[in-house]
Amino acid sequence: MSDTIHQQVAGLLPAMIQRRRDFHKHAESGWTEFRTASLVARRMQDLGYTLTMGKDAVSKEDMMGAPGEEALKAYQARALSQGADREMLARMDGGLTGFLAELTFAAPGPRFALRCDMDALEGQETDDPAHRPNREGFRSINDGAMHACGHDGHMAIALAAAEVLAGMKDELKGSIRFIFQPAEEGVRGAAPMVAAGCCRDVDLIAGLHIGFQAEKKGDLVCGTRGFLATTKWDVHITGKSAHAGAAPQEGRNALLAACTATLNLHAIPRHGGGATRITVGKMSGGQGRNAIPPNAFMALETRGVTSELDEYMTTEAGRIIKAAAEMWGCGFTITVMGGTKSGESSPEMVGTVAEIARTIPAYTNIMEMKDFGASEDYSHMMTVVQRNGGLGTYIQAGTNRTAGHHNDHFDFDEEDLAPAAELLVRLVREYLKQ
Ligand SMILES: [Zn+2]
Repeated sequence: MSDTIHQQVAGLLPAMIQRRRDFHKHAESGWTEFRTASLVARRMQDLGYTLTMGKDAVSKEDMMGAPGEEALKAYQARALSQGADREMLARMDGGLTGFLAELTFAAPGPRFALRCDMDALEGQETDDPAHRPNREGFRSINDGAMHACGHDGHMAIALAAAEVLAGMKDELKGSIRFIFQPAEEGVRGAAPMVAAGCCRDVDLIAGLHIGFQAEKKGDLVCGTRGFLATTKWDVHITGKSAHAGAAPQEGRNALLAACTATLNLHAIPRHGGGATRITVGKMSGGQGRNAIPPNAFMALETRGVTSELDEYMTTEAGRIIKAAAEMWGCGFTITVMGGTKSGESSPEMVGTVAEIARTIPAYTNIMEMKDFGASEDYSHMMTVVQRNGGLGTYIQAGTNRTAGHHNDHFDFDEEDLAPAAELLVRLVREYLKQ
């Protein structure tokens, strides 16, 4: 059977490459994955999966960092002009691009969920002629969006795995649920899908990322721990403008309030319980040289090795922003733009992944567990499943890259998609075989 799975996946490689390139060319960033998601949904339905879409898949109130309604409509129209599936697209109004695709087998058994992220990064792909997407005609045609993290590859892997699993109906029990998640970048998409119930009654969950700590072809990281919990805030400070020469005393300087806040945010005492981070990554304000700045903006993020440590950072950050605003006589608002919890793969599931990987010749350097040291909102889903008594792991599958993740020259070796798909199929089979 293992040989059959290997052959089936190998046979699907040309389709995986073709799909990956199509997604790459039509890159769509978080909450605007209309074309991408509509085509993936159509394919999953054609394969026999039952779809859960719209507000049943994504909780609108819990969406973070989504574009405004007008912008979303424009992206939806663009998707249609680029070949989106019209019927599926209509079910994604308001940016509800996340969906579930489930196949239930005849015999009762556990539910296995596979999470696949779909979004591109906000950023411009290089026009360097040496970059393969330029050479071979699949550079992103959407300005300001580029698949620079490999999520285009993840969808190709997921669709291949879904196809092979659909053909194994007679030997499997329970059910397989694919969670197609939007807006992973900025960790915005998992929480609203969890709130809508994507992890409900899930016994096992796996997520897979190409690259990262599986730095080259042949590498495989079977489990990941040390996901940093993180919170992303947009802060708007409101003051009062006044003539900078004639009446500065009448103004309320929002820019100075933001500066005061920024310096003190970076001075939050570090916590004895473990590593934390804080960065004000962007600040702007004011309207002209000769007026007291009535407005200021800060984009900031906190992180912690545990959710509690991240909470410590946000509590302190909130106190400092409030105090800095008051000190300068200003008001403020904080909008949560993203966030996720810490997490750790279940050791017994990691062991199972390693066992399977040892029988896949493509994986020559198998690492059981790695400390991530970054954030991925999959950890939110995994934590929920584990809390309900289930198991979860996050796999990193090696590939040769042309540049680091999130770099405008990012590309990967498409042949590495096949062993990743094979691994997922065999992992699901291990837990769902009759
Ligand atoms: Zn990524």
